[in-house]
Amino acid sequence: MVHRNIYMTDELQAIYDQTVEFVSAEVTPYGDEWETEGKVPREVLHKMGSLGMFGLRAPEEHGGLGLGMLASATFSEALGASTFAGFDVTVLVHTDMAAPHLINSGSPEQLEQWMPGVLSGETILSIGVSEPDAGSDVAGMRTSAVRDGDGWRINGTKTFITNAVYGDMTIVAAKTDPENRYGITMFLVPAGTEGFSVAKKLDKHGWRCSDTAELVLNDVWVPDSQVLGTVHRGFYETMKNFQNERMVLIGMGVGAAQAAIDQTLAYVQHRPAFGGHLYDLGAIRQRMAMNQARLDAVRAAMYHAAWIGDEGGDNVKEMSGVKAFGAETVMQIMYDCVQFHGGMGYMRETPVERMYRDARILPIGGGATEVMLEEVAKRSMVSA
Ligand SMILES: Cc1cc2nc3c(=O)[nH]c(=O)nc-3n(C[C@H](O)[C@H](O)[C@H](O)COP(=O)(O)OP(=O)(O)OC[C@H]3O[C@@H](n4cnc5c(N)ncnc54)[C@H](O)[C@@H]3O)c2cc1C
Repeated sequence: MVHRNIYMTDELQAIYDQTVEFVSAEVTPYGDEWETEGKVPREVLHKMGSLGMFGLRAPEEHGGLGLGMLASATFSEALGASTFAGFDVTVLVHTDMAAPHLINSGSPEQLEQWMPGVLSGETILSIGVSEPDAGSDVAGMRTSAVRDGDGWRINGTKTFITNAVYGDMTIVAAKTDPENRYGITMFLVPAGTEGFSVAKKLDKHGWRCSDTAELVLNDVWVPDSQVLGTVHRGFYETMKNFQNERMVLIGMGVGAAQAAIDQTLAYVQHRPAFGGHLYDLGAIRQRMAMNQARLDAVRAAMYHAAWIGDEGGDNVKEMSGVKAFGAETVMQIMYDCVQFHGGMGYMRETPVERMYRDARILPIGGGATEVMLEEVAKRSMVSA
């Protein structure tokens, strides 16, 4: 077998193939219904759990495969083939944006208690960092937790929290050291905890089948056993997963953009125009060829940055660049795919109409393009 990228092992290829096969059979045919309902059915997530798809990054002693960033890059790209990014992000918030905090910072007791449900899909996770007044500026958060008996009392509001309407547990970040802007601690807060509620299910431009919550924490009390990681060190512990989070958003974007390119090429190659087909027009053919070349570049750069991370290297500059360039590239590709579908591209029945809406969040969420470029710029200073 010839692998299509240098980092692809037989194991990663098997993960890719299994995931693409799964989404083609179990997601794409039903996605429109889920978009209307604003919900991914739990049975699908259970099915993925039973196939071991939630355990790529979990340690082997907890039932996972103990793989690294290359596995997440592969998995997210394969999910993108579903063409329903709302589904992809439901899965990836669970496996790659929330679970890594538990895996990296959880005590042996916490891992024993929660990992079986995380892997089976019984316990769907969300990560609650963003707030109405603090998004890109994470350290500006106002949610606070103060010591109270053998635990902590948490008060505040979180917003834009994926998986928190129908999920089972949120990893909540709260300020615990009022003297220090970065004095943040993470807490495990199961749904149903007294004082913890969904204030609103948010209505979105895209990712319609993904549920997004505004959350209120009103005098929520959690015992010390629900502190995740080290008190006051949550900011730095959260940062450990930033590169992975950025990467999987681009991974699913790459998978989706490839599907959009393929669908658009199929359309323009058959659409009669000017005595031939749209594809005969050099302007269209060349722009689609450039789109493919740009997407190939993003894909290669993403796997390369993942590899640096897996080798133990610092990949912040590379992954931030991938997030910035990748998100803008995917957006541009979706724009062209709608454009070359003409009026049909504006119709709800055409998948690229949805994919275009879905892609709009990529340059904003999980590190806005401008913030990512600052990360690259800071690391590009040359001494005189
Ligand atoms: C659908 C959806 C799902 C989400 N899911 C989650 C989740 O599960 N958990 C979670 O915690 N958060 C989640 N978020 C929040 C997301 O990560 C934030 O929206 C993002 O970090 C940007 O923060 P903000 O919206 O507050 O924008 P702001 O921080 O107010 O920024 C607004 C804009 O200003 C610009 N900007 C910001 N900072 C800079 C800078 N330093 N330099 C130059 N320009 C800048 C950027 O263009 C940015 O888009 C989600 C958001 C959405 C929309």
